[in-house]
Amino acid sequence: MHFSDSVKDIRKRRNIVLLWFPIGAIADIVIIELYKAIIGVPPHWLFILVNIGWVAVYFVLAMRISKILCPECKESALRSQPWISMKNLRCHRCGYRFK
Ligand SMILES: [Zn+2]
Repeated sequence: MHFSDSVKDIRKRRNIVLLWFPIGAIADIVIIELYKAIIGVPPHWLFILVNIGWVAVYFVLAMRISKILCPECKESALRSQPWISMKNLRCHRCGYRFK
C-alpha cells in the first residue's frame, strides 16, 4: 500500500495504465513478428498467450491505482480503473480531495 496525497503521483500511475494499451499492442505484434522471422508460422497458442499477457499486465498496472491509500481515512482511495478525472480527484470512501 502507498500513501499519497499527490495528484501528480496518481496521474503518473494512471498514465502508465493508459500507455500500456498501445505499448502492449505493439509489443504483442513485435513478439509475433519476431516469432515469424526466427521460427516461422506462429502457433495459435502464442496469440492467446501474448493477449493474456497484455491483459494481465493491464490489471496489475490498474491495481496499482487502487493501492493508493487515502491520507485521511487510511483506506484504498481509488478504484482500480484508469478512467478517472484528475480535475476533482477525491477519495471514494470519505471524500478527501487530493492536492
Ligand atoms: Zn478517504
